[in-house]
Amino acid sequence: ELAHVTRITTLGELTASIAHEINQPLAAVISNADACIGWLGRDPADLDAARRSVEWIVEDANRASEVIRRIRALAKKTEIEMVPVDINQVVREVMALVRRELATHAVSVRMELSSGLPNICGDRIQLQQVLINLVMNGIEAMQANVQLPRELAIRSSQDGDGHLLLTVTDRGVGLDSDVTDRMFMPFFTTKSSGLGMGLSICRSIIEAHAGRLSAFQNDGSGATFQIALPFPQEAAS
Ligand code: ADP
Repeated sequence: ELAHVTRITTLGELTASIAHEINQPLAAVISNADACIGWLGRDPADLDAARRSVEWIVEDANRASEVIRRIRALAKKTEIEMVPVDINQVVREVMALVRRELATHAVSVRMELSSGLPNICGDRIQLQQVLINLVMNGIEAMQANVQLPRELAIRSSQDGDGHLLLTVTDRGVGLDSDVTDRMFMPFFTTKSSGLGMGLSICRSIIEAHAGRLSAFQNDGSGATFQIALPFPQEAAS
């Protein structure tokens, strides 16, 4: 239940971004439809140009409906479903959802995704939720950065031990030991409007996948959160 509540809360925070993601293609649909009417109204009608406009309309409408499909999937309350998951695909889907949030906060993202990683077995939506939480926390941790660039790095790789590793590195306030000790506890928050459930739910989700979620202070500034997930037996051998 709590996982669902937090997911919805996070979606609430993302509402402005999501609205923008949908509004943009809709605006393009309208202007292309206008243009199309114009091409058809010529004498003789410019059918090639009209066809092109309609093709663009189809593309933009598909983009908008894809955004809605992803949000629906995220907001829907479903049983946990363990299926083969390409983690890089999960990262890309999450990036599409938080793109606007990143832009608003002037955060750039560096993605270093290993190619050829075996699939892991997991619940795609829950893994998305974990990643969204980590990215949103990273953005918030860099809110006060003036001198330092606001940069998130997301990396996927595998260790020598049959685990997939996914890390989210920020250059934010970092973790002092007081926070590190308690941040995975339910309701621990240092934010004025924080709920303090994000990391505790993330950890439960990762542990339900037989994995580990850990955090380190970076050598430079900021923090790194690492998800380690086991590859299914067959893939690891
Ligand atoms: P909330 O974001 O609502 O506070 P979380 O469980 O996600 O709840 O986080 C708990 C606390 O852990 C935060 O309030 C913050 O103090 C700390 N924290 C989480 N992510 C980071 C980060 N990337 N850098 C520094 N501190 C963090």
